[in-house]
Amino acid sequence: MIKTDIIIIGAGPTGLFAVFEAGLLKLRCHIIDALPQPGGQLAELYPKKPIFDIPGFPSVMAGELVDNLMEQIKQFQPGFSLGETAVHLNKQEDGTFIVETNRGTKVHGKAVAIAGGLGTFEPRKPTIENIADFEEKGVEYFVKNPESFRGKRVVIAGGGDSALDWSIFLADVADEVTLVHRRNEFRGALDSVEKVQKLKDEGKIKLHTPAEVVAINGNGK
Ligand SMILES: Cc1cc2nc3c(=O)[nH]c(=O)nc-3n(C[C@H](O)[C@H](O)[C@H](O)COP(=O)(O)OP(=O)(O)OC[C@H]3O[C@@H](n4cnc5c(N)ncnc54)[C@H](O)[C@@H]3O)c2cc1C
Repeated sequence: MIKTDIIIIGAGPTGLFAVFEAGLLKLRCHIIDALPQPGGQLAELYPKKPIFDIPGFPSVMAGELVDNLMEQIKQFQPGFSLGETAVHLNKQEDGTFIVETNRGTKVHGKAVAIAGGLGTFEPRKPTIENIADFEEKGVEYFVKNPESFRGKRVVIAGGGDSALDWSIFLADVADEVTLVHRRNEFRGALDSVEKVQKLKDEGKIKLHTPAEVVAINGNGK
């Protein structure tokens, strides 16, 4: 049985920074995460995307932010159970807790902090009949390495921050970027919407709104 002061479920930025704050109070932490590496969405979904809304950092790559968080908490020597999902939470008679993972690891602590974010990551796939035929053959649900799009013609479907951020970023990387969104209004940050509009006016992004991707044709390569 692993013994600690605080059991943290989730090694995303929230869980990692909780280690720092707890450390200042002289409390030890043990972090459990289903993913094999720390960093949550930043490490798993967009390690090479720049983030612009972190105080004190005009721009920082998501992967670099995770590295910095890990460096910042190193001094407090947190324990890690990575690649393990927390499945049971049991409160003991003395008010302490035992969390058990799917691999049978048991962690005992005085408090549990749930920093599980959105939980496990599953893409919300559009209902396009043959989309599975093209997965990892041109159809991606997140951008792990933007360099893989260098010199290519890219179509991005969506209207939130992710679609806008990647459209802006890939405008300088890809040969051509087309953004397709089913409404005329975007859900993302106003500043990003304005940047996309500007890139469209400069001819660097093609914009199709209101429009929806309803079919995919390709040679399967
Ligand atoms: C493509 C994309 C771009 C983004 N860009 C930005 C941006 O530019 N700026 C910005 O501020 N935000 C951005 N976000 C949002 C940001 O990533 C999230 O707000 C942030 O990751 C939340 O951090 P978190 O630590 O709360 O949760 P998460 O990062 O979701 O981490 C939660 C962790 O908990 C783990 N977990 C959940 N349940 C369990 C369990 N039962 N057992 C074990 N582990 C568990 C998960 O595996 C995960 O690692 C973006 C998101 C995406 C998808």
